[in-house]
Amino acid sequence: MYIQCNNTELVIVNLDTINVNFDSTLLRGLKEKKCLLISSDIKRRSYFKENLSDVKIWIDLFNGDFDIRRDLVSLLNDNHTNPYECVFITGEKRDVEFVHQKHISVVLLNNEDKDGDDRHFMPDFSVDNENELAQLFSQDLKGYFNEIVFKDESGTGIFKLFKIKHSIFDDFEADLIFGGRFFVDTDPRRYIHPLTQAIRVFKFGNKKLNNSFSLLLSKNLNIVENNVENIDLITAVPPKPSKENLFKPLFQESHLVDYASKLDLDILRTNMEYKPQKSVGSFANRAINVLGKFSSRENIHGHVVLIDDIVTSGSTTLECAKVLYENGADKVTIICFAAQQSHSQGKELEELKCDCGHKYRLRFNYDKGSAFWGCSNYPTCKNTMTYNIGKVTYNELIQLDDFRNDNIFNIF
Ligand SMILES: [Zn+2]
Repeated sequence: MYIQCNNTELVIVNLDTINVNFDSTLLRGLKEKKCLLISSDIKRRSYFKENLSDVKIWIDLFNGDFDIRRDLVSLLNDNHTNPYECVFITGEKRDVEFVHQKHISVVLLNNEDKDGDDRHFMPDFSVDNENELAQLFSQDLKGYFNEIVFKDESGTGIFKLFKIKHSIFDDFEADLIFGGRFFVDTDPRRYIHPLTQAIRVFKFGNKKLNNSFSLLLSKNLNIVENNVENIDLITAVPPKPSKENLFKPLFQESHLVDYASKLDLDILRTNMEYKPQKSVGSFANRAINVLGKFSSRENIHGHVVLIDDIVTSGSTTLECAKVLYENGADKVTIICFAAQQSHSQGKELEELKCDCGHKYRLRFNYDKGSAFWGCSNYPTCKNTMTYNIGKVTYNELIQLDDFRNDNIFNIF
């Protein structure tokens, strides 16, 4: 995501998770911006409140009764702000997942445990110090993760190697590196995310961006050569028998000339058709769905790089890696264009309906310092619910499915 803190509708800061060292930088960055600050610290609240003229919303924590994870979106609704027009700044890694699921861009501050990041929930930026934070507010940065920006074919940020294991045979594992993130079609950010758009174009068989994709691959191949080990062979997840191999033309582009001699796209074959992974449900089902569907040439040796477009569960790619290992590969490293990001259930508060047919929204009584649920059809309908009754009802309504069990690729 190419968030620009100068350009967002609303900056939300979870101050409770952020070291006070960042306060002066935050204060400068937030000047003249519409912001929502979350803090349970009265002194800190006063500090920001006194120094910022444009704090449009201010949340007190309602004696511990307010839950940012559940109540954030209703607050945005009340403020007529779309989640994807906001940026959320936090110092807590666990916030990243929930913010993602709300389709909000996220900046992670001072995250020391970078290797622990979940590939399904990559932050837009990971900021280590005050200087980087100040930069974020003043410049049009192009994304924390190493995402290829398709307009100028550059990428910024940190490359990261992940370990990925076969869901059934977990002694088969591989290093994974990807060129950026992919947003699913239920996520409004897909419309403005260049890599997501580009992959959609690629998957439909349009070759106009092949040069950029070959650049993405060459950059990732360089990283693997320099940080993992020498590459002996390069191959790709084979298409289904009825489909053309979309990776083949990429290796005719100039960026991949240096790797052409290591390329062999005939190593792996698809034995038979299999159901679309999106249609079979859970990650375990996906692994079973592709079990035995691939075979490989025998007598493979050395370090094999396996290319795929999007890593979701990793089932298809890991099944191919397993077949490579079974046929002699010493090491398999996977390079994907992108890692699929969180899948939101998108139900939110639509389900919490008033008898009159309109939905309930979370409201605040600033005099009492308490929250309650009120019908959005007010003043025509004056129905309200206490905060706790609404909370219990809401939790019953949104029995959230794990996103991994949902059908993810609706359009492919
Ligand atoms: Zn009503």
